[in-house]
Amino acid sequence: KQFKDLNLRPELLQGLLTMAFHKPSKIQERALPLLLANPPTNLIGQSQSGTGKTAAFTLNMLSRIDLSSNEPQALVLAPTRELAKQIAKVCALMGCFLLEQGLQITEVVPNPAMRGQHYKGQIIVGTPGSVMDMLKRRQLEGRNIKILTLDEADNMLDLQGMGDQCKRVKQQLPRDVQTVLFSATFPPEVLEFATHFAPNSNQITL
Ligand code: AMP
Repeated sequence: KQFKDLNLRPELLQGLLTMAFHKPSKIQERALPLLLANPPTNLIGQSQSGTGKTAAFTLNMLSRIDLSSNEPQALVLAPTRELAKQIAKVCALMGCFLLEQGLQITEVVPNPAMRGQHYKGQIIVGTPGSVMDMLKRRQLEGRNIKILTLDEADNMLDLQGMGDQCKRVKQQLPRDVQTVLFSATFPPEVLEFATHFAPNSNQITL
């Protein structure tokens, strides 16, 4: 399968070319048709870093956001700020040909200079703690979010309280949000969390 067979926006095919991604990786080939299906379904994916999972969930978001509005529409939760930054960077690179149409990617980090201001941008990336904080303060609007992605779920659950923060974030989002969860490993507690967090999901194991 080629990227052009995956129903992606033409601007994304251009972005992929620029990044020299010539062929979908296994996880991309398997995840994207499920993620982009209509109606959207939840997904639980088992994959290590290095397999191309970031591009898989990034392409899903970039394909499905509405660029005519800058309201937050897709939210990614990551266990660390470093990872959040890296994900935001991949989104911007992959979506570089959508920037002129108004694509905006926003990293949520605790920032006193943002006090009282609203976080805009179709794609929001952050740690569960920062995102929950901004939702609580109403600086981030959850009402139009249609995709929620959790990256490195196993690493998140290793951090005290982060699983609960993820659940609290999800409670602030529409009920029918598409929930996508990636984890390198699925020990019983992660599997139990994942199946509750992303119910009725398609599951992919590499
Ligand atoms: P990840 O699994 O998201 O950590 O990505 C692993 C690495 O593979 C990253 O450096 C990507 O730039 C690269 N990559 C992801 N998808 C592809 C692809 N389809 N073709 C070539 N490289 C890729």
